[in-house]
Amino acid sequence: MSSARALSSLRLPDSLNYIGVFLTIDCNLNCAYCINDPQQSGDRGKVFRIHRQRELSPAQWARGLSRIPFSPDLPLTLQGGEPMLYQKGQGVGLLLEGLPHYFDLLTNLTMKPEAFSESLRGQHAKLMRDAPYPSIRVSYHGDEMNRIWKDRGFAELVDRCEQLAQFGFRVAPVKNDSDVGIYMVEHPDNPPSDALAPIAAGRVPFETKEFLGVHAGKLFGHYRYPFSTDLIVRQIHPQPLECECRTSELLLDPLGFVWGCHLYLYETWKSGGMQTEFDHLQAADFRLKANYAQICGDAPYLPVGHILDPDFDMTDLAAFHTCRYYGLCIGCDTKIKNDRFQNYYDRAIAHTSVEIRGIRMPQALLAKLDQDERTAPFLIAIPD
Ligand code: SF4
Ligand code: SF4
Repeated sequence: MSSARALSSLRLPDSLNYIGVFLTIDCNLNCAYCINDPQQSGDRGKVFRIHRQRELSPAQWARGLSRIPFSPDLPLTLQGGEPMLYQKGQGVGLLLEGLPHYFDLLTNLTMKPEAFSESLRGQHAKLMRDAPYPSIRVSYHGDEMNRIWKDRGFAELVDRCEQLAQFGFRVAPVKNDSDVGIYMVEHPDNPPSDALAPIAAGRVPFETKEFLGVHAGKLFGHYRYPFSTDLIVRQIHPQPLECECRTSELLLDPLGFVWGCHLYLYETWKSGGMQTEFDHLQAADFRLKANYAQICGDAPYLPVGHILDPDFDMTDLAAFHTCRYYGLCIGCDTKIKNDRFQNYYDRAIAHTSVEIRGIRMPQALLAKLDQDERTAPFLIAIPD
């Protein structure tokens, strides 16, 4: 049984850029391009056969997340899968009730606005932060939404966003003034049509995001580390490379395990998550650090820690760990992007979610890089 004693507060480093709480990996859509599938194999329903899997309860989440000091400019981002499905649609409100923090929410808004509002249990203000971008970021998925809303997918989504104003949310066309905004990935097979922007214009912020990864043999996105996302899928090299890596994000999976990157989290959940390890962990009063080898020793992807472990500390995230999967990295971890202050877009200060060093790169691969890339400090040349 878990001890009821309060857990120690975590000291967040200034470098911590994002706190992502994956409440559930379940989703009610089946997008051909799914953010959770590292291989982008196009059939999410088959890749993630984990419906009704166990997850931390709202009370457990509140206990674990209460370790994170309140900060108005570092929200806890609820995501998934579709986070509004958590605990049969009732979990998000219960979780919000148990914590003082501000939250961001990544949702497909397939839950009707009235039900969405009701499920928040009066905690709406925790999703209304004074921020440079909307707290409720609604994703548009053309194929799936046109299927369920009979060819008026985008129009219905804009209507739903607008209806959130009836429940107290600020809905405005400019993203700095709006609690709600729509985002769409520019998938090469499904580029945004010219018809979309006029539907949202003057009503709800609408932005497209670049597609990351490889499609039809072509690499999309801008990455700091060469070959990090395309080494294997484009058959540039037969196996991943070894390196050392650390993250600037706190990524928590539905069972409360802390992960060093998205690849480790998603790959673990393709096989249903660390359910057996969780049983052992619970029996050990969540003391993962003290029992790490016995509980996680054989897992192919090793977590950094567990949010309910009294011994978990943010210095565990700051330490570089050896990784043998370089080249399979998920684009969102290694792409050059904005930090939480929008510094890249607004001030040209680049950020990547992970920091990688000591990439052991064979000479033949180095030879494929430009001269200035070859001398990058994070590369170590090794014989072929
Ligand atoms: S809504 Fe998001 S999580 Fe669900 S299938 Fe689509 S991309 Fe994947
Ligand atoms: S090198 Fe890539 S796969 Fe390995 S931990 Fe870092 S981001 Fe993840």
